[in-house]
Amino acid sequence: MMDGERFRVATTVSLAEVDPAGTADFSGGKEKGRAAQAKLTKRLEALQELLFASGTERLLIVLQAMDTGGKDGVIRSVFDGVNPQGVKVASFKRPTDLELAHDYLWRVHPRVPAKGEITIFNRSHYEDVLVVRVHNLVPTARWERRFHQINEFEEMLVEEGTTILKFFLHISRDEQKARLQARLDDPSKHWKFSLGDLAERERWDDYQAAYEDVLNQTSSPHAPWYVVPSDRKWFRDLVIATVLVETLDKMGLEYPTHPDDLSGVVIS
Ligand code: AMP
Ligand code: MG
Repeated sequence: MMDGERFRVATTVSLAEVDPAGTADFSGGKEKGRAAQAKLTKRLEALQELLFASGTERLLIVLQAMDTGGKDGVIRSVFDGVNPQGVKVASFKRPTDLELAHDYLWRVHPRVPAKGEITIFNRSHYEDVLVVRVHNLVPTARWERRFHQINEFEEMLVEEGTTILKFFLHISRDEQKARLQARLDDPSKHWKFSLGDLAERERWDDYQAAYEDVLNQTSSPHAPWYVVPSDRKWFRDLVIATVLVETLDKMGLEYPTHPDDLSGVVIS
């Protein structure tokens, strides 16, 4: 059994020192890893049903990564078999004119999970201190203030009963090259390929620096970041499934007691 907590950002993290291809102390390769993850996903399926049935807790999962980092892959494999009725995915793309006419959290707040729900943010409000910073879309003083605004927004959500887990899928520049090339080589993957991704790739170092600030300024005990080594997809999925199951287990969820006495009920 792996310890998911070792990937949590508890003190200062330097991304250059985290090996994106690392597999920590997991003994075994892809085959063992996938088998372990499949078991965890089974438990996730049961825990999600319990979360839904008890109807008291809310779980927000934030996924951030460089292009090709594997956000979609995580959603597909870690949640494979989990009842789609209890899980929502909110994808945050380039803001619309209406969204840009409001503050940056305006589009985010309505999509946080309700009681009994798990919501996965595929990108998030963190884009407003990442792409926005790297491309100078707002003045520096403005995005700098967003770190404390985001911390306070998340603290409010947690104080009101939401559990927040944030995952940065850490890939290497070489792995991104290979994945972009694979998209280019396969016509059935062209829809995922955007020439804009190449321009973003040119700014790799700026993004790594921006991510490092995000991780160091917005990982707190109540809303922690996890840096997930993600060059190996199976290990990435295993780490995330581990943290999710650990977190849901800790909630101590129970099926609710029925408001009626069902002991004498006969179905004719
Ligand atoms: P994809 O996830 O590949 O569909 O791409 C979504 C694009 O939307 C990415 O290039 C993001 O950087 C961009 N995006 C998401 N949120 C924002 C934001 N707040 N401001 C500017 N661009 C954003
Ligand atoms: Mg993309």
